[in-house]
Amino acid sequence: MSATATSERGAGATPVALEQITKTYGAGAGTVRALDGVSLVLPEGSFTAVMGPSGSGKSTLLHCAAGLDAPTTGRAVLVGQDLTGLSEDALTRLRRDHVAFVFQSFNLIPTLTAAQNVALPEILAGRRPDERAIDAALDRVGLADRWRHRPSELSGGQQQRVAIARALAARAAVLFADEPTGALDTRTAASILELLRAAAVEDGQTILMTTHDPVAASSADTVIFLVDGRIVEQMTRPSADRIAARLSHLSSDERAR
Ligand code: ADP
Repeated sequence: MSATATSERGAGATPVALEQITKTYGAGAGTVRALDGVSLVLPEGSFTAVMGPSGSGKSTLLHCAAGLDAPTTGRAVLVGQDLTGLSEDALTRLRRDHVAFVFQSFNLIPTLTAAQNVALPEILAGRRPDERAIDAALDRVGLADRWRHRPSELSGGQQQRVAIARALAARAAVLFADEPTGALDTRTAASILELLRAAAVEDGQTILMTTHDPVAASSADTVIFLVDGRIVEQMTRPSADRIAARLSHLSSDERAR
């Protein structure tokens, strides 16, 4: 564990660290080993993409890192806090105060306006929403004039912008994005990836994103490849072409097994 991984939260605390994580589902002959000894440290302000074939453990990795799922063995650290043995309440508070999620399916509350959706984490945390921060976040994602609209009145790309504005307004230390561009067309996806990149570069948010798309992954600083629950390769600022080439090798390696 690096020296920065203290039990203190906030500035200087390791945003995300996984140490020798394994995760198995089921028992006996039906056991599935979804993660098999994954170690990873994400520095503050880094943008990391996780790629790999379907079933390779991408979602499980994200869920273990976010404290949504407990590893079978190993240790997960989130904003400097060791998640091992934390109660559900403590985990919920930790996520509420420091973590944001962006999902493929947007996960907005349909009956709330865009502005109310952005304000929701503050309200759930029992704090008064900072209206200026909400306006600024909606402005930043290009939705200043849509704050009254409900999700059904917004396009998919606009709904994902609301989800990103929600993460920005909450000033989350860590943003977990599970296939955030999976439901979007290429051009809309590019604008969402630009916003995610800006959240890392300009706001210092630490981003962990799963994706199937080499172009999406090429927005990240680091791309991690998973096969059968193991990290088989890590690339720094690879092009989409290099990522696609590596992925096709992963698939042919798989077929060869
Ligand atoms: P990916 O996101 O790369 O498609 P997942 O993390 O969803 O992969 O799944 C990894 C493996 O774990 C798969 O074999 C999957 O079937 C299995 N798995 C995931 N969640 C569960 C669960 N709740 N119960 C049983 N097996 C699961």
